[in-house]
Amino acid sequence: MKHEEFDVIVVGSGVCGATIAREMSRQGRKVLMLERGGSAPARESLAGIAGIADEVRLGERKLATVRALTTGGSTSMYFAVANMPPLELFRAHGIELADDLEAVRRELPIAALPDRLLMAKARRLRASAIELGHDWRKNEMLIDASQCDSGYRYEAKWKALDYVEDALAAGATLIQRAMVVRVLREGGRAIGVEYRRRKGFGSELRQAYAKKVVLAAGELATPTMLRDCGVDGVGARGFFCNPGYGVYGLVPGLGGGEEGFVGSMSCHLDDGIELGDANVARVLHRPMMLAALRFRHLLSYGDCVGVGVKVKDGLGGRLEADGRLRKGFDHRDQVRLDQGRREAVRLLERAGAKHIFDVGLRAAGRIGGLIRIGEHVDGKLETSLRGLHVCDGSIIPDDMRGTPTVSLICLARHLSRHLLAAT
Ligand SMILES: Cc1cc2nc3c(=O)[nH]c(=O)nc-3n(C[C@H](O)[C@H](O)[C@H](O)COP(=O)(O)OP(=O)(O)OC[C@H]3O[C@@H](n4cnc5c(N)ncnc54)[C@H](O)[C@@H]3O)c2cc1C
Repeated sequence: MKHEEFDVIVVGSGVCGATIAREMSRQGRKVLMLERGGSAPARESLAGIAGIADEVRLGERKLATVRALTTGGSTSMYFAVANMPPLELFRAHGIELADDLEAVRRELPIAALPDRLLMAKARRLRASAIELGHDWRKNEMLIDASQCDSGYRYEAKWKALDYVEDALAAGATLIQRAMVVRVLREGGRAIGVEYRRRKGFGSELRQAYAKKVVLAAGELATPTMLRDCGVDGVGARGFFCNPGYGVYGLVPGLGGGEEGFVGSMSCHLDDGIELGDANVARVLHRPMMLAALRFRHLLSYGDCVGVGVKVKDGLGGRLEADGRLRKGFDHRDQVRLDQGRREAVRLLERAGAKHIFDVGLRAAGRIGGLIRIGEHVDGKLETSLRGLHVCDGSIIPDDMRGTPTVSLICLARHLSRHLLAAT
């Protein structure tokens, strides 16, 4: 390994890492994917999720987010809501994604769920939201509805693992349980990485070399790596984390035992507050209610209806020297969090729910603002250390709304074109 040189090394096999590896290896480039996690889960189960989920605390008030450390990254446990990239916003950063978006839409199953896949809970929520005057709409999802006879199916969601498998079929190399600890540099260029490979009960340090290195380790890992490379100002403006609540109640007699896809519908209130369907599959419902010590809700899956609240917070907090993130909220954020929670309760009450509670303040699976296009990376997503690029959730602009996965696939395709031209 030490003397073998690759065209590109991608650090992490999430949405961006997998897409770049697939695009590059299909064009005959020699690609190495280094992935910190293993292969779990082969299918969705409580043990499978527990084995890959990594909870990351963000502050003093039990604020936390979660990521998946496994091949395919966080899409192994995401909800598959597919908001489209804001093309104008990326254009303003010198990045043109229109053709990529068109290609992605042609290739992937992106559509709103058909009515037959909306379960009793989702239908009840929609009825009460509309009665209260909300513009409650279906979201597009990365779900192949033709694979779902009646309701939820984990396998029907598109996942980055699909692209990892395509990359492997096209000749890419994947090393799992390989945690990159350092970017190797020579002069002002990145020439490879050093990684720790787990082996039995121990581990060993190895190096790998390439013409190009892409950090795609996710929004929680990449900023620290980039700062360690000496790139100035990473994290200087703080970060956003889209905080919010899951609010749940019991609607006696609803009795919809079927499982649906969480996030299938939502609405936007004024001032950056979003409410959505938070009716998770059974496999997530159980540990969530257990952690909240809500046994009645735990045992009444069919009657338990959930509303998610998400608030667009401003930049703030800090990235500590040890890589930990800390964030508090200002008065405006707090007012909107309270307003969103109150509206979620009103929606549940309207739906006939009793025993309403929230599971505590969480950061929605998206942190950002630490790395900025135009400041830390250029339009080719390259850093001031030549040959070192960044492509993952950490570069999503802080004024972008909505879910990031489709934008990330497009950004990864955009970067792949530049890498192909340069290798
Ligand atoms: C519960 C949940 C629900 C979500 N729902 C949605 C949704 O509905 N729609 C949507 O668009 N988005 C959703 N997201 C967000 C979405 O999953 C992520 O934004 C997206 O997967 C991020 O992709 P990425 O390429 O940035 O990195 P990731 O998916 O985080 O992948 C990074 C990879 O790098 C690996 N890695 C980390 N450090 C190292 C290292 N040092 N060395 C080697 N490898 C490393 C990790 O193990 C991981 O595999 C959700 C997230 C969560 C957690």
